[in-house]
Amino acid sequence: MPNGPITDHFTWEEAACRCGRHAGLENPPHELHENVRTAAEMMEKVRAALGGHPVFVTSWWRCPVHNQEVGGDAQSFHLLGRAVDLVSKFTSPPEAQAVCRDLQEEGIVGGLGSYAGFTHVDTGPRRNWP
Ligand SMILES: [Zn+2]
Ligand SMILES: [Zn+2]
Repeated sequence: MPNGPITDHFTWEEAACRCGRHAGLENPPHELHENVRTAAEMMEKVRAALGGHPVFVTSWWRCPVHNQEVGGDAQSFHLLGRAVDLVSKFTSPPEAQAVCRDLQEEGIVGGLGSYAGFTHVDTGPRRNWP
């Protein structure tokens, strides 16, 4: 399985499922690795738009079991490695979400989930919630 950097600022370890039952991105039943690479390219643009400061990934790829455990949607883009939940070190979630809305206008971010404590971005179709 891949390890180390995907892009300049994001790693395969950050993309791995957080369930602790398996390491890394294993036995992908779909184009998981390619999806993660594409999401990492999006994340580089998000990171740059947030001032180039560190961005913490709280959730990226989720295996089906873990997705269910955390109450993820059955169609979640996290299952495909196409969604990232993030927290920016120097930007509050509402500010980060405003930046990500601008990136949506540019077609860089697809789905944007605005939560109180974090921001969800994905490479799917353009959607906004809640
Ligand atoms: Zn898992
Ligand atoms: Zn998410």
